[in-house]
Amino acid sequence: MTYQLIQLSIQATDNISCPHCQQNIIDWAEEQYVQPCEHTLFIAMDVGFEYMTDEFEQTMPRSVDDLHAHDDQVNMFSEITQSTYPDYLIVKSDLGIEGYFRYVGFTA
Ligand SMILES: [Zn+2]
Repeated sequence: MTYQLIQLSIQATDNISCPHCQQNIIDWAEEQYVQPCEHTLFIAMDVGFEYMTDEFEQTMPRSVDDLHAHDDQVNMFSEITQSTYPDYLIVKSDLGIEGYFRYVGFTA
């Protein structure tokens, strides 16, 4: 696993954009606020996944279904970083709840 972690100092209500194409991946102006672009590998929170490509899921030690079934005892960040995906970027931001974060994965 080779990932780079970027911590955003934004509010939970701020949009999150792709570092490659600048598309808003989290876009609160849209009814469907999750808007993955072609560089997005996953959108996860400590409480569950909002988006995951099949390609990335296959590099994870556990399936998304398995993780969701045990989401009360799963450390999402630890699961995401156990991926064998060769090179990726994790953008971490505050979820507005103490100790909870959103993690958006992009291709490097
Ligand atoms: Zn993009």
